[in-house]
Amino acid sequence: MIIKSAEFITSATKPSQYPPAMLPEIAFAGRSNVGKSSLINKLVNRRHLVKTSRTPGRTQLINFFDINASFTFVDLPGYGYAKVPAAVKKKWGPMIETYLTTRKTLKGVVSIMDIRRQPGLEEQNLAGWLGSYRIPILRVLTKSDKLSKTKQKKQVDLISFGLGLEKETLLLFSAKTGKGRDAVWRAIEALITE
Ligand code: GDP
Repeated sequence: MIIKSAEFITSATKPSQYPPAMLPEIAFAGRSNVGKSSLINKLVNRRHLVKTSRTPGRTQLINFFDINASFTFVDLPGYGYAKVPAAVKKKWGPMIETYLTTRKTLKGVVSIMDIRRQPGLEEQNLAGWLGSYRIPILRVLTKSDKLSKTKQKKQVDLISFGLGLEKETLLLFSAKTGKGRDAVWRAIEALITE
């Protein structure tokens, strides 16, 4: 994918604030600090399009980005950060769920997981919602550079087993080395053009 332009459109908490639903959309979801901003920035070759917040969990809005005036990337607020007040946490689920279940142009969700972690309840809930709404899901295991090849393989086995999925459905990625960037793009392009 050749990136000609990548621009922030707007932030939203509710549907009335979303930009008009005109272009195919891909959303990115993951636990806070998982490497979601780094993944998006690496995909679009921009170092600071998505702000990598130094205080994880600070970005609690749904952020929309226009890519090449052809499709939209949506950065969903990271979940699971312990320091976020309970009242804010309570709004997360409904905010994300409303987006996922009402957005007509949503073509798929990139579910980002740290290759070193076992998927938790949040990842399972997300998969459950998406499944019931028949929204395609792309699973990316990031920070792969932090493990040796042997340990990567072991984690892929564990995570795929935990999620009840084929190993081949997990895409390994590293924002540090760029590993997996092309494969993730191919998968995203397939969703957009479907
Ligand atoms: P977000 O909260 O999910 O948006 O996570 P960030 O993209 O801000 O990343 C959180 C931390 O993990 C930062 O210190 C990043 O530099 C680091 N990080 C993100 N992706 C990778 C990766 O692929 N490899 C390594 N080694 N570090 C990463």
